[in-house]
Order: sequence, then C-alpha cells, then structure tokens
Amino acid sequence: MRDRDLYAKLLGIEAPWFVRDVDARLDAREVEVLIAFADDAEATCPECGKACRRYDTRKRTWRHLDTMQYRTLLTADVPRVECPEHGVKQVQVPWALPGSRFTAMLEALVIDWLKESSTSAVARLLGMSWDEVDGVMTRAVARGLGRRKSQPLRAIGLDETSFQRRHEYVTVIYDTERTRVVEVLDGRSREALETFYWDTPFEDLQTIESVSMDMWGPYIEATLEHIPDAKRKIAFDRFHVAKHIGDGVNKVRVHEHAELQGGGVDTLKGTRYLWLQNPENMTPNNLARFEALRDTSLRVAKAWAMKETARHMWSYKTRGWAQRAWKSLIEWMSSSGLEPMVKVGRTLREHLWGITNAIVLRATNAHLEAVNAKIQALKKRACGYRNRARFRHAILFHCGALDLYPQLAAAHTKS
Ligand SMILES: [Zn+2]
Repeated sequence: MRDRDLYAKLLGIEAPWFVRDVDARLDAREVEVLIAFADDAEATCPECGKACRRYDTRKRTWRHLDTMQYRTLLTADVPRVECPEHGVKQVQVPWALPGSRFTAMLEALVIDWLKESSTSAVARLLGMSWDEVDGVMTRAVARGLGRRKSQPLRAIGLDETSFQRRHEYVTVIYDTERTRVVEVLDGRSREALETFYWDTPFEDLQTIESVSMDMWGPYIEATLEHIPDAKRKIAFDRFHVAKHIGDGVNKVRVHEHAELQGGGVDTLKGTRYLWLQNPENMTPNNLARFEALRDTSLRVAKAWAMKETARHMWSYKTRGWAQRAWKSLIEWMSSSGLEPMVKVGRTLREHLWGITNAIVLRATNAHLEAVNAKIQALKKRACGYRNRARFRHAILFHCGALDLYPQLAAAHTKS
C-alpha cells in the first residue's frame, strides 16, 4: 500500500521496523500507524546491546506530531528479549525515549513551543493536557541537568526573587561568567544555600573566585562556612549597595517632606523619583527641576550627595585606595545627623570588606539583568506558579542554558 510507504518515510521508520498498516479514522480526525518489528531481525537487550532470544511482544502507543492536522498515533508490537544478564527487557524503539508516551519528535516540538509560550497555551494548541506538557518540561530539565557536565564555577551570583505575590522567595544562583542560572533554591535562608554548597562537588567550589550577593546575613554565613577563603571572595553587589543607600535617601525625603508640609511648604511634593533616578537618565524638564532642588540646603539634597558620591566609588584598582575612599564616605554619613544615613553608614562599615572585594574583583550581578528580566516575565506569564518546584523548572528551562532535547540512544538493533 502506498500510504504505508508514505508514513514510513514521514515517521522515519527504518528496518527492522516497518509500517504494517495505517488506520485512518477520518471521523475522529485521527490516524493510527501500526508498526511491527521484522520477524527475522535480531533483537538486542537495551542494556548491553547483546542479541538475545525473543521473549514476547507488548503493544504500546505513542502520540506523534500531527500529520495534515490529523492526530497521529504510533502503535507497535514491541518485542521483549530475555537477556541472560539483564532479564526480560523491552527493546529500545528508535522514535521515543523509554517510558515516554510521546515520540521524541513530538517532545522536541513541545520544547520548542514552550520556549515561546506558557504551558497552558501549548497544551491548548497541541491538544494535550496541562500535566502532559508539564511532564515534557520536567523531563527536559532533568535531562538537561543530567547532561550539564561539571564545569568548574569561577564567579557566581546569588539573588532572591519573589515567588507568587506573597512574601515568599526563592534564591537563584547564577553562573555570572556564563550568564546562566545554575540552581534555584527554596527560600533565602542559610540552610537553603547550604544545601547547594553541600550538593556541589568540593572541587567545583574550590575554583570559585567570587560570590556576588546582597548584604544578606544568611547568604554571608553559609558562604563563609563552605567556600574556602570566602572572606576574600564575597562581593557585595554594587546595585544592591546602591539600593540600600537610595532607601536611606528616600527616608530622609519622607521625613523632611512631612516636616515642610506641616509648615505649609510643598517643595518636595512629587519629587520621590528625582532623588532616586540618576541625573543622566532624566528628561530635560526633570533635570532642570532636580538641579534647582539639589542646589538648596535641603537635608535630602545632602543625603543625595552621599548617594551620588558612592555611585562613583566602584572603580578603584587597589584595596587600600578603595578602603580609604569608602571610609571617608562612611564617616560623612555617620556624622551627618541624618538618622537614616547614619544607619546606612553603619551597615556599610560592617560590610566594607565585601564592598572592597567587589571593587578589586570587579564582581557584580549587573550583566544578569537580562536573565532577571526573563524570570520576571515568566512569573507574569504563568500568573504565579502553583508551587516552587514548577517555578524552579521554568527558570532552569528558560534560563539554565540546558541541552533540553531528547536524544535517542542508538537502538541496539540490526536487521
Ligand atoms: Zn543485557
């Protein structure tokens, strides 16, 4: 029959497998392709590849890519062999991975589509259930993680990201050198990070030269405990440091604004973003307005000057110069009489060692912004993940730079 040849070609079915029959159920818009294994072909054990005695056959069905908008199923009588060493085993079929109900080509298509759209959209488009599509993603991530050869880590970055809308977090570990996500941990505790350090082979931890992070106690403690010579490697990310200083400036503005308003003065009304934005990013109108405020004796203007000074203190070449400069800024903060800035100064003094590490190691999470933006987009697209395991899978799927596609092992068959 001609359609048998056609389907054999379409599906890439080769000897010793052949298309025995094609059952086109037009009403159901479904085609079932019946495949068999040649009687006289040698069947081999999937474990060791040795030719073995045939034992029996098992009927199995896989869903394949649709052909001409017809749902296409492959059904095969798959021989089982009796291996003297491995017992009764089903021979490996060349079109699907062991245990999967989908052909490898369909799984690859699902993976391609998942890169572009959400699990529910792919399920709808392919007429699959949500769990089936999720299963393809989960297996793809497991496969990718399994294939990721131990590549020594040199620079890593830690960051927390919120999960769903509540105040729940996951910790994302980045390989900042290769700009990819290494792992996603439950929560942001010391214990969470320690599980990662325990699970990473010691020789991979030894090669780490910098760990970029926020000034977050639990991350600091876990890293000091597990990374050799961590006191020289922990680097407080400049954008996190800037955020702490910016928060201080904002508090000064809030207090001062309340005070001025009490006296009927609206000078600081609607100026929040002027004090947080960098002047070079302002519109000409805002810049003019900002410059007029900056050159006053407002307390917030003084706090802002500290923030602006800190912004330009990241390019020192030596530890000594970096330390001297930061110490004088900290001194300025501490003696400013502006309570929020005094507090910031105290935090910076306690963490100065890691700030100078960041400067001399040139360690930062800055270039991870694209990866971060992707994670935020994922969160939005999925309207919050049902659980953290799913969120982890999605992050690793999209940002882990993993080799996700099914790869069929050479089927141990000869005709
Ligand atoms: Zn065997």
